Amino acid sequence: MLMIEQRQQIVEYGLKMIRSGLTTGSGGNLSILSATDDLIAVSPSGVDYHDVTDADVVIVDRSGNVVDGSLKPSSELDFHLALYAARKEISAVVHTHSVYATTMACLNWEIPAVHYLVAFSGDKVPLAPYATFGTKQLADNIISSIGKYNAVLLANHGLVTVGSDINSCFNVAEEIELVARIYYQAKSVGQPVMVNTAEMERVIEKFGSYGQQDVNK
Ligand code: 13P
Ligand code: ZN
Repeated sequence: MLMIEQRQQIVEYGLKMIRSGLTTGSGGNLSILSATDDLIAVSPSGVDYHDVTDADVVIVDRSGNVVDGSLKPSSELDFHLALYAARKEISAVVHTHSVYATTMACLNWEIPAVHYLVAFSGDKVPLAPYATFGTKQLADNIISSIGKYNAVLLANHGLVTVGSDINSCFNVAEEIELVARIYYQAKSVGQPVMVNTAEMERVIEKFGSYGQQDVNK
């Protein structure tokens, strides 16, 4: 079996998506690009995350041809492939239907800098126009909207995040869901005060060295 480690991560992070309430049933999908194999491990289409095994994960090439696996890959394979083609620095993609981010997406709103944690995406979370799930049009809309951001809302659908590994993608999805919830709640009782552009630039720069990442460097 090809790419055992990435297969295991797809299973593990699919379960994390469910357990943290970021999605339900078989909603959403995730993929990991292996630089060494130049192949992509992607979740199978329509299989409940509780039931997905290592062997169910589908390995495809950059054109979407199945290289290893007996199940159909995610119906959103097109946008996963398009993101790897457009953003050379990323190695993972996560798509969720998390409730508060999706609420913003159903209002066709972007998420602005209402809380500094929006920096997990950038100075906002942009919005991709609506297109039917699983279509090339949806992939095109995502590519023309995501720019340099690590997250993008899909109108009337959900959220997509990108990152250098699956853990960072998952973290972006989790933190953006938190910011979406805070925005929703703040909007419900008043007019939220935004973090200004200069401060967001400072925060984004500080995120570059946040935590333990530069220990031993
Ligand atoms: P898949 O199960 O085919 O990945 O589809 C789920 C989804 O969220 C479609 O947008
Ligand atoms: Zn979806």
